Amino acid sequence: IRLCDDIIDRFKGGEAVGEALCKALGIGFGETTGDGSITLEKTPCIGMSDQAPAMMVNDTVVTNLTPESIPGIIRQLQENPDPQALVHETGDGINADPLVHAMVNNHIREAGPVILANYRRDAGLRKALTQAPEEVIEDVKNSGLRGRGGAGFLTGLKWELTRQSPGTDKFVLCNADEGEPGTFKDRVLLTERADLVLEGMTVAAYAIGAETGIIYLRGEYAYLRAYLEDTMNQRRAANLLGINILGKEGFNFDVRIQMGAGAYVCGEETSLISSCEGTRGDPTDRTPFPVVKGYMVSPTAVNNVESYCCAARIMDMGPGWFSGIGTDRSAGTKLLSVCGDCERPGIYEVPFGTRLGDILERAGADDVACVCVGGPSGQMVGPAQFGLGISYEELSTGGSMMVFSNQRDILEVADAFMEFFVDESCGYCVPCRVGNVLLKKRLERVRKGEGAQSDLDYLQRLGESVKFTSRCGLGQTSPNPVLSTLKNFRPVYNALVKDNG
Ligand code: SF4
Repeated sequence: IRLCDDIIDRFKGGEAVGEALCKALGIGFGETTGDGSITLEKTPCIGMSDQAPAMMVNDTVVTNLTPESIPGIIRQLQENPDPQALVHETGDGINADPLVHAMVNNHIREAGPVILANYRRDAGLRKALTQAPEEVIEDVKNSGLRGRGGAGFLTGLKWELTRQSPGTDKFVLCNADEGEPGTFKDRVLLTERADLVLEGMTVAAYAIGAETGIIYLRGEYAYLRAYLEDTMNQRRAANLLGINILGKEGFNFDVRIQMGAGAYVCGEETSLISSCEGTRGDPTDRTPFPVVKGYMVSPTAVNNVESYCCAARIMDMGPGWFSGIGTDRSAGTKLLSVCGDCERPGIYEVPFGTRLGDILERAGADDVACVCVGGPSGQMVGPAQFGLGISYEELSTGGSMMVFSNQRDILEVADAFMEFFVDESCGYCVPCRVGNVLLKKRLERVRKGEGAQSDLDYLQRLGESVKFTSRCGLGQTSPNPVLSTLKNFRPVYNALVKDNG
């Protein structure tokens, strides 16, 4: 049993659920029952922050836990060790496929025009195949589509670079290693829009000249694997994957699933590639970029789940339709996973440019002190920033939005995020391996009321150093909980230090 231990779960009663688990099993965390059948562990976010507290029993997800529900769950597991027997609720998703885990509720609160609205299945792929690959790339470039993982690189340009790079074998990788705490939009896309994801990957393969695609699936989403395999089989039977796709002579493409194993750093594209190659999922230096030398040292386009969905829709509806939604520099819509202190946690698909305050209102979040936009690696912002629009130019996010009310201790949140980065650092480079530990320790000192202004200066200087000297995206963003709270919540720090004037 792995109990989710992220800050949202803790605030939603996860600690009491943990105590109930220890009591019912007669063991502590990190221990195994006498008969060896159950080991109890804590784990960072499992992608269920909209239905916390949650835990995994093998690959089965059990959500909306309470201390009262635990004795019954343990009793049932002791009588029938198959955790699937615990699944008894019905999801509210559009997709009622029995292979999709019935206990996971997809909580789609707002369907925007690009991804979650009704669409013409495979119309984008059919249209792409009537054009030359270069024309497909031109359409994606003209649409203004930028990577939905957060970095915002132009998708069409990435495809063009991959196509132009020398090499006979080229690859299309789908980054479904959604490990950012508080993010669960890919979980929803992979259940509600699995066909659209595969359609987008197939369009990408045609554009860049790839025959092999890989979906790198987050370890905690193992329960989705059977459903995805089934969807791929149906597409093979319909000649939407395989040889001479849709009768297009010489266009062959198929997809396999590569399971992740719970390492956050594998969401970083070079680690993801290493993991797909069967080696340890460590980041590697860029350059060369994966578009030149990626998977198996061949040109590789790595895109986010959401980006593939957008690409398929662009092919169907046209680049002008897509670029007409959102803002000048941020075209289209963004899927947001909203969770925490709000009445309606779940998925919101909004046009870029939508104000943060509007989203909070729709999610039923009032009395909000802080929103963590983009997960722990993003920004913790306060009411002064609620007028900003979600976009690459104002408030950029990979899709996570964690809401914290005035009842919460903002620095407890920042501390929990630093704990996450300390755990998830791969340890290769000193700034990230050591710097994050030092940042966390100094933050703890300030939280205990033992710090001074000089400690805040130290946090600022060290945070910037870690950010600018770390080797990969994990270390380059890991000080953000400290740096963004120092910037946006300075009075909270000042109230804690001794020489606050
Ligand atoms: Fe590893 Fe962190 Fe360095 Fe990235 S920044 S290579 S995760 S130690």
